[in-house]
Amino acid sequence: MEKIKMTTPLVEMDGDEMTRILWQMIKDELLTPYIDLNTEYYDLGLKHRNDTDDKVTVESAEATKKYGVAVKCATITPNAARMDEYDLKEMWKSPNGTIRAILDGTVFRSPIQVKGIEPCVKNWKKPITLARHAYGDVYKNAEMRIPGKGKAEIVFTDENGKESRQIIHNFDGPGIIQGIHNTDQSIKSFARCCFTYAVDTKQSVWFGTKDTISKKYDHTFKDIFQEIFDQEYKTKFDELGIEYFYTLIDDAVARVMKAEGGFIWACKNYDGDVMSDMVSSACGSLAMMTSVLVSPSGVYEYEAAHGTVQRHYYKHLKGEDTSTNSVATIFAWTGALKKRGELDGNQALSVFADKLETATLSTIENGKMTKDLALITSIEDVTVLNSQDFIKEIRNTLEKML
Ligand code: NAP
Ligand code: MG
Repeated sequence: MEKIKMTTPLVEMDGDEMTRILWQMIKDELLTPYIDLNTEYYDLGLKHRNDTDDKVTVESAEATKKYGVAVKCATITPNAARMDEYDLKEMWKSPNGTIRAILDGTVFRSPIQVKGIEPCVKNWKKPITLARHAYGDVYKNAEMRIPGKGKAEIVFTDENGKESRQIIHNFDGPGIIQGIHNTDQSIKSFARCCFTYAVDTKQSVWFGTKDTISKKYDHTFKDIFQEIFDQEYKTKFDELGIEYFYTLIDDAVARVMKAEGGFIWACKNYDGDVMSDMVSSACGSLAMMTSVLVSPSGVYEYEAAHGTVQRHYYKHLKGEDTSTNSVATIFAWTGALKKRGELDGNQALSVFADKLETATLSTIENGKMTKDLALITSIEDVTVLNSQDFIKEIRNTLEKML
């Protein structure tokens, strides 16, 4: 078979620890034998981030803006222990945070469904994609412990010094208060990311807030979503036969539990934090969740939802066998290659990416999998493979399909 050519480079962001090992294995076994990989490579491994004063992260995000599609390996977000381990000049910020700030995007996460690993919620036949607003609310709050009797107020002072006030509570004794905010700009961009991704993946959007109780704060989210939808997306949605559906957050939760799946669930920041853990744990394993950052202008960065799997990496360094699941990382590559293929009109590339996904899933369905899946599968008599052999087995399946 002649290798598939790529016209536009794909931005490749390498990462850390066990996922960096898997990254290389995936390229060697599943990609470069079949594709003339045309990537612009950025090493986001912690050592190189430190050597470049983290400039490499910014450069990789700029390149993503330029070319439109990136694939990212999991990376270490440094903490105190990592400062010593890597002898860091600074406690560099989370690369995902830096990239997201530059691309101004929203993260969409969906479970990879495979026969034999069924979600605990038995009516979920299709994946539920969770879109979490990643700015503001309780994550950028100001809080105060109220020591005793007194009046708590919200005060807004405009640029001319004019004040508007509202009483929060007249306290008779000790208590607590909290101030939170969001901006129209950020909510609009969140709405556009959700609707853009919906059109792209031909799925409906569900959104819920508590607008009946929060008549200004949550209601603004509802109003902005409706306005952007009506003005910019309604026609397109009608053409595709998908819908935008708004309801109260508690009603949304109740409906999600009864639904079949196959839609995008947009959530405010806190709701998204909580609900994404619910959806992912109901679907079995973090190693079976894909994640894509979509910017309002339609730039895409694909990755796995899990981290660098540090514990397995230390075993690997000691020369011990590991059984680390590479599915989400493979799907980050196939997602990015498919998108690249679609944008460039490179059908061969998209078709190959589809086949690689099918080969990955059939390998598992044929009872060959890593340990994390073997523990939860309903398939009997499974073969537990190590990290390398699992990837080799996917290659065998793929070879038979090509
Ligand atoms: P993690 O890497 O997601 O791993 C946590 C545990 O989940 C592992 O120890 C393993 O459990 C299981 N697991 C996760 N992915 C797996 C896979 N592919 N195959 C098999 N098992 C898997 O989270 P962490 O250990 O808390 O974080 C490690 C590093 O990752 C941290 O430095 C953090 O900053 C970074 N991180 C990066 C990203 C990102 O780049 N997007 C996201 C999250 C965390 P067992 O050990 O029980 O087998
Ligand atoms: Mg959480």
